Amino acid sequence: MNLHVVPHATCTFCGCVCDDIELHAEGDTIVKAKNACSLGESWFRNHTAERHYPDALVDGREATLDEAVEAAAEYLHAANLPLVYGLSNVTCEAQRESVALAEMIGGVVDSHTSL
Ligand code: SF4
Repeated sequence: MNLHVVPHATCTFCGCVCDDIELHAEGDTIVKAKNACSLGESWFRNHTAERHYPDALVDGREATLDEAVEAAAEYLHAANLPLVYGLSNVTCEAQRESVALAEMIGGVVDSHTSL
């Protein structure tokens, strides 16, 4: 299998956004993330272009996107202080929408880095 090298890749895992990563890929699989820390290396090596999950889950069961949105709205409406948490593996656009949602519902935002 051919080795494909991508220089100057950016890691978005922890928020430091290291942009000097050299990725080595065989097919759809990243086999090496040169210059990445152990977290970044693990993040790159364990993500592929394959689909592993359905579009949505509700209580651990496969659901439609509409069902998931309705369930999320019910949880958020019932919450005393909604927490929008995580956001490390999502796009900038999704982060922007998440912050807007937190503001709209009077919630708070936290990232996984507080761990
Ligand atoms: S997880 Fe590591 S490589 Fe990735 S952005 Fe953070 S410090 Fe950089």
